[in-house]
Amino acid sequence: MKKVVLVLALVLSSRAAGHVTFAQAQRPAGDPKLTEVWEPVPPVVTPGATDAAPPSDAIVLFDGTNLDQWVSTRDKGPARWIVADGAVTVDKKTGNIETKRSFRNYQLHLEWRIPAGITGQDQARGNSGLFLASTGTGDAGYELQILDSYNNKTYANGQAASIYKQAIPLANAMRKPGEWQTYEVIWTAPVFNGDGSVKSPAHVTAFHNGVLVQNNFELRGETLYIGPPVYKQYDTAPIKLQAHGDPSPAISFRNIWLRELP
Ligand code: MG
Repeated sequence: MKKVVLVLALVLSSRAAGHVTFAQAQRPAGDPKLTEVWEPVPPVVTPGATDAAPPSDAIVLFDGTNLDQWVSTRDKGPARWIVADGAVTVDKKTGNIETKRSFRNYQLHLEWRIPAGITGQDQARGNSGLFLASTGTGDAGYELQILDSYNNKTYANGQAASIYKQAIPLANAMRKPGEWQTYEVIWTAPVFNGDGSVKSPAHVTAFHNGVLVQNNFELRGETLYIGPPVYKQYDTAPIKLQAHGDPSPAISFRNIWLRELP
């Protein structure tokens, strides 16, 4: 009882003295409206039924039914890889394929599968590749490596999810052969000056099966099999998939889409 009386007396005396209340003391000084930004309002993008499905503003590059969005890199004729059961399987005889359209910056989703019963080792085991920009025939461009890296030793900057011979992936997130894998990639194209020199280098962020494997990595140039990387000026470029010459069974792709970014 004594305590209650004491507290009451303290409260009354502080009010009488004009002290701020507890609630007033918690409120920061200044006008919160000064730091509110109302425009521009972001565009509404309706997500897919799952995070793997294309959202409303995506360009669908392969929906499992046909290769209408693709051509053969070699002769720009029809892409002749094998479409069946909602997936496309590499036909190594016909070579790399690439998109008809060209892109600069984008967010891309792609799924790939090493066949169960894959054979070979090192770089000769399910080798393919996602070229984030195809700057010419053959393997010219910037390759995010595709390989069976499930219990398969190779050089670390050439395993799955490496930026080929430039960036070791931050983790090995491989699923077993026979299971589908996902890549989510954010590609920021290099910018060149008028004289062809690099104004700002390319950057890539990538997730492999939801695991961060490249964190805004700054590329040193195109990914080369031999020798140090070097930049070659380009503006927009197709996206390319690799038909690697190794003798192991061919890999498959499905559900490929992208969203162009400013
Ligand atoms: Mg490759």
